[in-house]
Amino acid sequence: MSNPFKGISVSLSNKTVVKRRYSVTQDVVAYRRCARQYGAFNVHKYAPAEQTQAYFGTVLHQVLDRCHAHFHGIIDPSTKGLLPDNGNILSYEDIRDYFGETKSARKTGEIGPLPPSDIIRYFIQVENGLNSQGILAIRSELRVKAVNILQYFNALEGPILYPRVRDTEHRLQADRTDHILHGVVDLLVDSPDENPDPANCEMWDYKGSSRVGLNPKDLETYEFQMRVYAYLYKRKHGVLPRKAVLYFLNELDGPTCPPNRPVNALVEVSMEAKEIEEAIEEFTKTVDNIEESRRTNTWEAAAPGEIDEQDCKNCDLRWNCKTPNNGKGVKLIYP
Ligand code: SF4
Repeated sequence: MSNPFKGISVSLSNKTVVKRRYSVTQDVVAYRRCARQYGAFNVHKYAPAEQTQAYFGTVLHQVLDRCHAHFHGIIDPSTKGLLPDNGNILSYEDIRDYFGETKSARKTGEIGPLPPSDIIRYFIQVENGLNSQGILAIRSELRVKAVNILQYFNALEGPILYPRVRDTEHRLQADRTDHILHGVVDLLVDSPDENPDPANCEMWDYKGSSRVGLNPKDLETYEFQMRVYAYLYKRKHGVLPRKAVLYFLNELDGPTCPPNRPVNALVEVSMEAKEIEEAIEEFTKTVDNIEESRRTNTWEAAAPGEIDEQDCKNCDLRWNCKTPNNGKGVKLIYP
């Protein structure tokens, strides 16, 4: 029988190189904080038992996003130009009572009370979405604290900030030879009394933490993050933004709403050309390190003192890690 394929040669197709996408915060910032934690939860996808860190930051970001949408009438056109709750603030006790009543209603199967404010309504919507992904607040006090910070921000910053918001969740990315770097800027804010021009825009990024007591390495990474955003912004709009701003929301925490913005809440990040270049170099180096860690499956824990003790307290790997407690590790509670 003759061979029908005789004399036919099919050349091998060229190997396709798939560029990995790296998020500025979820990959680069997370790996720089602790490669071991990043490897376990972001690469190997182990499910963390507690997601307190993710909960607090995400709930603040997403509720504020709804507050901006409320003011701009995106959710409901009738709220256009209005602050959620008209900037009014519920007391700690009122917030606690509402959460207590909804908890009791859930237990008895009754219909719970309606949310007493716009902020709490948005908070519950966001929380339901997070809970469905397994991201929960471990302590009920954390929920009260989050609502309180959101109310303070809304009352203190809302009247001036919301009208200036030009875009939220502003997406940026750049093709970097062997990978794609992308990021999401929380807010683009027009400078007051200026024309809507990309060169007049400020980039704002919310952080769920405090500025006071922040680990210097974390602050440096956040500054690099904003400079990398500035670089990506220039690639997209052809100009640098006017300002890059970090807002530390936890600085608003306290028994009463601060009458003025706390001095440590806002940090303006300088954007000299040399600093931007250095930030890009650092982040590219970090991406190379992530690639190397993937190749060798080696994920080093952060060195003692280079990571916030609170980050280690919330980490499931702390029982088997020498870094927490200034390098002393965590005492096992059994046998
Ligand atoms: S306990 Fe701290 S240093 Fe150790 S893996 Fe977790 S976050 Fe990293």
